[in-house]
Amino acid sequence: MADLMKGPALYRHAKTRIPGGTHLLSKRPEMFLPDRWPSYYASAKGAEVVDLDGNRYIDMTIMGMGACVLGYADSDVDAAVHQTIDRGVACTLNPPEEVELADLLCELHPWADMVRFARSGGEILSVAIRIARAHTKRDKIAFSGYHGWTDWYLSANLGASNALDGHLLPGLDPAGVPRGLRETALPFHYNRVDELKQLVDSHRGDIAAIIMEPARDEPPQPGYLEAVREIATSIGAVLIFDEVTSGFRMTTGGIHLTMGEVRPDLATFAKGLANGYAMSALIGRGSVMGAAQGSFISSTNWTERIGPTAALATIRKFRRERVAEHMIRVGTAVVGGWREAAAAAGLEMQTSKIPTICNFRINHPDELAMTTLFSQLMLERGFLASTNFRPSFAHQPEHVERYLAAAREIFVHLADSAKRGDLHAQLKQPLQRRGFYRLTS
Ligand code: PMP
Repeated sequence: MADLMKGPALYRHAKTRIPGGTHLLSKRPEMFLPDRWPSYYASAKGAEVVDLDGNRYIDMTIMGMGACVLGYADSDVDAAVHQTIDRGVACTLNPPEEVELADLLCELHPWADMVRFARSGGEILSVAIRIARAHTKRDKIAFSGYHGWTDWYLSANLGASNALDGHLLPGLDPAGVPRGLRETALPFHYNRVDELKQLVDSHRGDIAAIIMEPARDEPPQPGYLEAVREIATSIGAVLIFDEVTSGFRMTTGGIHLTMGEVRPDLATFAKGLANGYAMSALIGRGSVMGAAQGSFISSTNWTERIGPTAALATIRKFRRERVAEHMIRVGTAVVGGWREAAAAAGLEMQTSKIPTICNFRINHPDELAMTTLFSQLMLERGFLASTNFRPSFAHQPEHVERYLAAAREIFVHLADSAKRGDLHAQLKQPLQRRGFYRLTS
C-alpha cells in the first residue's frame, strides 16, 4: 500500500514500519508542520526540492541538515561519482581516492599527520573517542555540545538525568546504554573554563579526552580555546574538535582554522565533507593517531569508493569556487533580513552569531505558535522554512530576496495575529515540536 501514499500519509505509514518514522530527529515532519509537511522528496537540485505530489519548493531551511554545502545534486560532484560507479564502488583491493583524500585533508590542516575514515558523524566520533582512550589508557571524557547517538556520549545521562541539559538536545534518553558507563562522560558548557577546571580537579588522572565544537551558536570568548588547549595539555588529555557541523562552512576545512592559533590533537568531519554522500573523517597528530593500531577499528563499508570520490570533488569545488565566502554572504543577508523584518514588525528576536549556521528565536510567550505559522505560511508561498537555515552554494540572491520579502510580510502578520490573539486559530495543523522527547512518542 505504501506505494500509493504520499507526503503526510506515507509518513503516518512509515511510523508503523520504522520506529520514530525517520532516521534523523531533525528531519521529522513534526519538527516543521505535523500532518502537513511534504515529508518526502521526489527530486532535489540546487536549492529546489520537488515533493511526491510534484510541488516545488525553495529550501530555506536545513539543506539536508547542513550536509549539502554545494546544493542538491551538484553536477561536478555527481559527475565524479558517476565515473566511480562505472569503475566499481567496491572491490577486494582498496580505493586510491582514500589516500588522496587523506593527503588533501592534511594539506588543509597542516597540524594533522594522519587520517581515518568512516561514513557518518556518530561513527567517526566513536572512532575518535576510542583512539583517545587507547592513547591515554584512561576512560573518562569531558565534553560540551552534541556528539551523536552512540553509547559513549549518551552515557552522560546515566548519572543525573539532566546532565545533557544545555548541550543541544535536552532530555536525551540513555535507555539501552550500559549502566557501567555511568560517570564516564562529563559535561561542561561552552565558554565556561571554570566548569572544565572543576571537572579536571575532580577527575584529573582519568580524563582521556576533552571534546567540543570549536564554535556552534556563538564564537569562543577571547582566550577560551587557548585555556582549553592548555588544560588538555597539562593533564595529558587528547583535545578533540568536533567539526561535524562547523567544518566546511566558514572556510575550506575546520572552523578552528579561522579562530586563531589553537590546534586540537584530533578533529572530526562529516556533514559538509562530501555534499550529502556518506562520508566522515578523523584527522589527527601522528603521535595520537598511532593508537588506532593498538585497538581494533575496522569496517567493510568504510572501504567503499563513493564517499572519498564525493569528498575530493566537494572539497576541490569548495576551494575553487570560494564556497565558504558565498555561504557567509548568503547567511549574513538572511540573518540581517530576519532582524530587519522582525524589528519592522515589532517582534523581539535573537539570532545566531556564526553566519553559516543560522537560526532565530522570537521572544514571545506564544513563540511556538508563531514559528509554526511561519513555516505554514512559507510553505504556502513555496518555501521550506523554519527557524533554522543552512546556506549553500546553490542559494542565489534572488532566492534570498524572494524569501525575505515573504518573511517581512509574514512577521508583520505574526505580530498582528499575536496582538489579536488569533495565532492558534490560523494553524492548519498541530504545533511544531522541539527537543528530543519526540523520540519516545
Ligand atoms: N557532532 C556534531 C557536532 C553534530 O552536529 C552531529 C550531527 N548533528 C554529530 C556529531 C552526529 O553526526 P551524524 O548525524 O552524522 O551521526
